[in-house]
Amino acid sequence: MTSPETSTAILTIDLDALGANYRLLDDKLGPASLGAAVKADAYGLGSDRAVQTLQQAGCEDFFVAVVDEGMALRKTLPDARIHILGGVISDDIRKACIAQNLIPVLNSLADIAAWKEAAPERPCDIHMDTGMLRLGLPPDETALIANNPGLTEGLAVDTVLSHLAVADEANNPKNAEQLAAFTPLAPLFKGARASLANSSGIFLGPDYHFDLARAGVALYGGNPTPGEPNPMAQVIRLQGKILQVRDVDTPQTVGYGATHRVKKPGRVATVGVGYADGYLRSLSNTGCGYIGKDRVPLIGRVSMDLITFDVTDVPVDAAHAGALVDLVGPNNPVDDVAESAGTIAYEILTSLGPRLHRIYQGGH
Ligand SMILES: *Cc1c(COP(=O)(O)O)cnc(C)c1O
Repeated sequence: MTSPETSTAILTIDLDALGANYRLLDDKLGPASLGAAVKADAYGLGSDRAVQTLQQAGCEDFFVAVVDEGMALRKTLPDARIHILGGVISDDIRKACIAQNLIPVLNSLADIAAWKEAAPERPCDIHMDTGMLRLGLPPDETALIANNPGLTEGLAVDTVLSHLAVADEANNPKNAEQLAAFTPLAPLFKGARASLANSSGIFLGPDYHFDLARAGVALYGGNPTPGEPNPMAQVIRLQGKILQVRDVDTPQTVGYGATHRVKKPGRVATVGVGYADGYLRSLSNTGCGYIGKDRVPLIGRVSMDLITFDVTDVPVDAAHAGALVDLVGPNNPVDDVAESAGTIAYEILTSLGPRLHRIYQGGH
């Protein structure tokens, strides 16, 4: 257990912002509906709390990667549709789907045959790959299905889906290619819904909306339109506690590898957060924090439990042991931190570690 007093880091999750993000995307979709990707513990934010907020905002479809996540969610969501993206590669997965009323995504002809055998009357999804070369029926299997209705006869297909590879690059021609490949597949199964767009796909326009979109990162505050202003509200704030402030008067180095040298007299604040908490080591010597409105550069390497900031320019009564530094916050949102770390918001969010004291705000 953590508490604000004992923990050296506070992760605040704004459930009202999460709900507002859901409604913003849902409005943008017009008549199409919005499902939520809540895999990886709702991108690290805590799926129990997140799904309640999403459900209150109107969400009826939840997507997870593996069946274990689906079974855990079933307790919080007794009635919602829970889709298992990773497919059904074993009998045990099929049994779990049947027992817990989870909707498996079938990714191959073999999956389809096995599900037809196991539980044809139970809802399933079919994933047609249109350009990811990852999961889903390859084009030759898709063609077989399209030309031989018998192969899928009797299946209760809930949703036909495909996944975009470059939706975050609005001008990339691959988007239109995938749309063209998916469009004739969308109506293959009578009564089934069609779903193509992830968060960024929603912003590619109504052609990409079909019946159901599957948003993840934008719900959690990541920018679905990189290069343009972020339309989403920030959901997380990560604050690290200063454990010690050191005065430096003679030149010396900071941290492992002695990679940063303090040259002038100044002050260095050590904060109790490190890569074990998801503050990525690639932020070494490039990250920054904020104390109030004052930017403080991260100096030296990120270590497992500690990071160091140059607080020379911050008033002494603001940078003291016990004071909080924004590591992700209003002035350094999750996409900015990700860019400094050489990664994407998804990885920052899903790396947030168990030592952080979590505070859920709003959501009632
Ligand atoms: C994770 C995932 C999503 C959500 O993607 P975002 O880019 O986070 O919106 C949608 N569909 C599939 C198949 C996924 O794996």
